[in-house]
Amino acid sequence: MTPSRRALLGAVPAAGLVASLPAAAQGTAPALDPARPVLIRGAVVVTMDPSVPDLPAGDILVRDGAIAAVGRDLPQPEGAQVVDGAGRIAIPGLVNAHIHLGQALQRGMSGDQTLAQYFGTVVAKRSSRLTADDLRAADYAGCLELLSAGVTTVVDWSRETTSSAHADAALDAFENSGIRAIFAYGLAGSGAGSTTSANSPEAVSADIRRLRAGRMASPGRVRLALAMRGPDFSSLEETESDLRLARDLDLLVQFHAGAPVYAERKRRSIAALHEKGLLNPRISLAHANDLDEDEYKMLADAGGSTVSTPEVEMQMGHGFPAAPRMQRAGGTVGIGSDISAGVGGDVFTQARIALAAARGLANAEALRAGAPLRAVAFTTRQALGWATLGGARAAGMGDVTGSLTPGKRADIVLLRADTVGTSPVLDPISSALMQCGAGAVDFVMVDGRVLKRDGRLLHADVEGAAANARSRAVGLEARAAG
Ligand SMILES: [Zn+2]
Repeated sequence: MTPSRRALLGAVPAAGLVASLPAAAQGTAPALDPARPVLIRGAVVVTMDPSVPDLPAGDILVRDGAIAAVGRDLPQPEGAQVVDGAGRIAIPGLVNAHIHLGQALQRGMSGDQTLAQYFGTVVAKRSSRLTADDLRAADYAGCLELLSAGVTTVVDWSRETTSSAHADAALDAFENSGIRAIFAYGLAGSGAGSTTSANSPEAVSADIRRLRAGRMASPGRVRLALAMRGPDFSSLEETESDLRLARDLDLLVQFHAGAPVYAERKRRSIAALHEKGLLNPRISLAHANDLDEDEYKMLADAGGSTVSTPEVEMQMGHGFPAAPRMQRAGGTVGIGSDISAGVGGDVFTQARIALAAARGLANAEALRAGAPLRAVAFTTRQALGWATLGGARAAGMGDVTGSLTPGKRADIVLLRADTVGTSPVLDPISSALMQCGAGAVDFVMVDGRVLKRDGRLLHADVEGAAANARSRAVGLEARAAG
């Protein structure tokens, strides 16, 4: 070590040295005991539940993995562990309501790709070539990335799951990471965005039943869903049949739809599903950028949702995010990041991009009409709502997570709001979304279990997970080239 390097290290506070220690020596902030109550004391509390008031200095009590109380000066129960919330904004854990975690081995590949290029490289050459161990590594690395960014719930649309062994590997990753996950099991189809023919509806159905007879016997932190093909990647008849399968299996479904760039795009397909009485609250549409206005209303009235992934959508020709139109139709709006080969999984960023796009379009329309807006068209509260409760509802988990509501599971994020870039806090929602973002995520709790504290993930193997993803990517690239 050079003297200047030593001098530099000597000048930083003790906390700054932690990053240079080997993994085994980390963990200066011990994980809290989930068996004992946790009291978060004195944070700025943003509940995202209109029936639970926000608090400029409030407490959150967590007991048995659930939010027991939100209020001022809560009494400290016997044996409670106290987390100092001073200088922190407490928000509900974010929800990434549409992502392909299996692409974590292909990061950086799609940053400059069109949709056709992405289908031709990432999907056609790699998605069905991941081994089960590859998928476990990719999903685990992806989950750690999300947790570190304050995402506590993920909907993973897994076209990489091409066998029972893959499904088990994905479930291992979700369980081991501690994240709350909706694992959407990929169905095969004829379209370019589908997975291999091994995933016939019969095969997926049999594997779902196998899982439910075993490790998925009772719904917990990790749940199952169906990654359906949908009308733009199969026929209306197949869509109808897939929806019946989902109903028979009692599963949420998510499919990609309504993007003009899709080669087999079918206009008015949502209206067609409506006419057949097939829309329901357990249907979530990824993208849906280019539906007709009445189709948003049909989906909203049926209780379904759209999930906007604005960065990928605007890059790859899907159009502008549907979030504002679905919101105006009174429907549920979630936010996702979509293509892990192209963009990070951070939902703060995606929510900000969705908000900026919605505002930009509204301003452009108003200016064209010669009447500049007197107030912004969409608010930071709405955008943070898309990233939290909206996403939770889109994931079928609105009664479990998405807001700091007593009785819900304890999925809580604390943001550092006392730094040069994040203070002062004049409007906590605006600060949380527009100033803090993923970089300020200091503390993450999922289901009452602390997974990040003092700005660091508490998993023992974070560096190992990254190294494993890198080495497995080498093997995948060799197979893709062969
Ligand atoms: Zn997608």
